[in-house]
Amino acid sequence: MADKRDYYEVLGVSRSATDDELKKAYRQLARQYHPDLHPDDPTAEEKFKEITEAYEVLSNKEKREMYDQYGHSAFENGGMGSNMGGFSDVSEILESIFGGMGGMFGGGSRAQNANAPRRGADIQMNMTIEFMEACKGKQQVLTVNRMETCPDCHGTGAAGGSDSEICKECQGRGSVKSMQRTPFGMISSSKTCPHCGGKGKVIKNPCQKCRGAGRVRMPKDITVDIPAGVDDGMTLRLGGRGDAGVNGGPSGDLLLNIGVKPHPVFTREGYDIHCVIPITYAQAVLGDEIVVPTIDGNVKYRIGEGTQNNTPFRLRGKGVKKLQRNDRGDQYVKVFVEVPKGLNKKQKELLMQLEESLESKNYAKREGFFKKLKDMFNKGD
Ligand SMILES: [Zn+2]
Ligand SMILES: [Zn+2]
Repeated sequence: MADKRDYYEVLGVSRSATDDELKKAYRQLARQYHPDLHPDDPTAEEKFKEITEAYEVLSNKEKREMYDQYGHSAFENGGMGSNMGGFSDVSEILESIFGGMGGMFGGGSRAQNANAPRRGADIQMNMTIEFMEACKGKQQVLTVNRMETCPDCHGTGAAGGSDSEICKECQGRGSVKSMQRTPFGMISSSKTCPHCGGKGKVIKNPCQKCRGAGRVRMPKDITVDIPAGVDDGMTLRLGGRGDAGVNGGPSGDLLLNIGVKPHPVFTREGYDIHCVIPITYAQAVLGDEIVVPTIDGNVKYRIGEGTQNNTPFRLRGKGVKKLQRNDRGDQYVKVFVEVPKGLNKKQKELLMQLEESLESKNYAKREGFFKKLKDMFNKGD
């Protein structure tokens, strides 16, 4: 994960590249590295996958925003490949370049080979975690109900070492011809053999557990690492943790939709934490050392004499750890000066004494305000 290259770097464009610049860069690189042009060079295929993944993300406005904000962790653990969902014009571009070449992107008209490896489906799951867990990260065991390679037949679909035989319906071709009457006459077309599903063979003695399918849906406990810094509404993509593939294809991904419970004291904005601390009237007037809770525990903070209501201060680096980075956000604290209520007679008298002893210079704001009012009326004369 950490050695994954920056998408902009992969395509050789700047972070402010326009859609046209991205497309141009991708076309150029795709021409250079398409595996069909380098059948014996496995690095070309790797390279091609890398540029395609980068382009799929950066050419999509939403994904690009996610990536700019959270980096690769927005799509956790890679494995995005072509099944990411969302609009992408990759196949359009490739077809325009390699139109007649066939190969891995050669148009969609060819019949699917039923024996070809297919990637397993992605699985979506919701998960709600505590506020602190989102800040600190957590390891959690999740029970995922997913398609697994059948443990009894190891995916072959055949019971106890039994064989499969050539399909009689299609003689192993996997497709059957059918004649159709149309306004233009009889047309012969071939379609997937309904008897063997296009595989060309049928299992004589299907496995009981998976009924010959080779995969079964079953609960599986997996341990997932929720990285520190995740936030409410984020989706983590855990590569290869989804449904098992078919015919040796790769597994799909597990998409984990994260919900974060609210905290009684803290709120979060991106990687910054906010909180409001009530202080007494006397603390505000005289200044004091107050205790400020942070996600790492309490810290002391000195507020000055004459601290006004709503005065903000910032604790640098006391926010949430950023995804894929080592620095942290900040904590913003505001003091709320609580006016005492329910005073008894004696207390009220004491307060009156205090008030009478104060002069207008002790109340700079109030003095300024009435001066402005006065000026306003004098102007009207
Ligand atoms: Zn089985
Ligand atoms: Zn058949």
